[in-house]
Amino acid sequence: MADRERAPGAVRQITSLVNPIVKDIRALAMKKAREETGRFLGEGLKLVTDALEENWPIVAIAYAPAVRDQPHVAKAAAAVRARGGDVLEMGEAVLAKITRRDNPQMVVGVFGQRLKPLADVKVGEGEVWVALEQVRDPGNLGTIIRTVDSVGAKGVVLVGDTCDPFSFETVRATMGSLFHVPLVKTNRDAFLAWAKATGVRLVGTHLKATHDYRKVESRAPTVLVMGNEQAGMTEEMTAACDVRVKIPMAGRADSLNLAVATGVMLYELRRGQLS
Ligand code: SAM
Repeated sequence: MADRERAPGAVRQITSLVNPIVKDIRALAMKKAREETGRFLGEGLKLVTDALEENWPIVAIAYAPAVRDQPHVAKAAAAVRARGGDVLEMGEAVLAKITRRDNPQMVVGVFGQRLKPLADVKVGEGEVWVALEQVRDPGNLGTIIRTVDSVGAKGVVLVGDTCDPFSFETVRATMGSLFHVPLVKTNRDAFLAWAKATGVRLVGTHLKATHDYRKVESRAPTVLVMGNEQAGMTEEMTAACDVRVKIPMAGRADSLNLAVATGVMLYELRRGQLS
């Protein structure tokens, strides 16, 4: 946080809605502020605990006086303080203001953003990563990150112009999985060059594909490629995939929701590993 009112080790009480710290945290709802600071906001004690478990950079924990004495809150606050983060106590009206919610969570955290370089991604035998080309819906992205975590897939590559994985909406939808799933951001050319160099198999999903999604061998190191909500995968990405598959549909819908299709694919690709 800014150096204002800095008192290392102390719990800072914030009661004023116009306190500059409140303004700084509230601004994290905007992408520009997140990019400039490299920080983001997450709501709920579970998120803070998940972040601490994974050693994520944590800038501050803020909580309402009503939960101050709860053992899990006190433990999380002590851990944040031990890592040099700020501990802020703020009334519910202040928490409502920074989270832009009428009924705010009693605990929130301010975290540093963390992305993995594509060059560090190694996909092993029996492992699956997910690549999302131009995903635009924050709820879809958060749901996919949560599903990747749930099935034991290894991470998510954001390809091209995508929504921000650190937006309020995406972070909420991940339910804490954001801290357990490595994220990579890259462009299509770099992604395809990396795929070629590493020899990973690209399994693309396409509505015009004829190959049934249940007929894909599941042990090869795999990146499952999913397309944009409106346009699907680009032609270049579609052409570069080693195999293109379709999930059959029987009703009148044109397609499945992106996050649902990703879930169906992941459960199929991970079937042998899930008992
Ligand atoms: N109009 C787009 C199109 O023609 O591709 C629809 C895109 S769909 C809503 C978003 C993404 O979800 C697709 O690019 C694909 O990755 C996946 N998807 C949705 N339904 C699918 C299905 N039945 N089979 C395979 N992939 C599917």
